[in-house]
Amino acid sequence: MVRVDLHLHTVFSGDSTISPRLLVEELQAHPIVKGVAITDHNNLKGYFQARKFASAYEDLVILPGIEASTEKGDMIVLGVEEEPRYPLTLSSVVDFAKDRDGVIVVPHPYRSLGIGDLAMNIEADAIEVLNPTATLRENEMAQELAKTRNLPEVAGTDAHNARELWTVFTEVEAEPSVDSILNAIRKGFVKVGR
Ligand SMILES: [Zn+2]
Repeated sequence: MVRVDLHLHTVFSGDSTISPRLLVEELQAHPIVKGVAITDHNNLKGYFQARKFASAYEDLVILPGIEASTEKGDMIVLGVEEEPRYPLTLSSVVDFAKDRDGVIVVPHPYRSLGIGDLAMNIEADAIEVLNPTATLRENEMAQELAKTRNLPEVAGTDAHNARELWTVFTEVEAEPSVDSILNAIRKGFVKVGR
């Protein structure tokens, strides 16, 4: 089992103060969380830097991710080392992910910048049901959606500064590797934790 944060931002998001180096140092120092998906807004620069810093440590997993800002709201794609082309629309991002075997996570569906009830029909692999930047009610609604759709439930901190790191995590029944974690998310071998 490996505990991972599947949603956070580095300075390359433009609205976060977390440098990739600090993130890796914090991850290395953390007692139980040993993996992160870097989900910067629309780019992979933070991911590539963090992966480089993390290569000094054996037990850390850095997953590629993007939080795409579409016209309908945010969508997270995990496992793709390529940036989606503009304009970013909901359907273009889903197609981008599917064409590259990415894992689609709907972040904070009922918070601001969430895609709301469009999440009822989107080809998602998992729903983010625990996000500390959403209200209790918004997270509950996300959980109801995941149950209705029978989709895996994941958690992400959505951290934009160091204090927001590690407040929640996703427990994944997987080996500490990118492929193993992504496959386990798809199969629903996940549980949210805090
Ligand atoms: Zn975010």
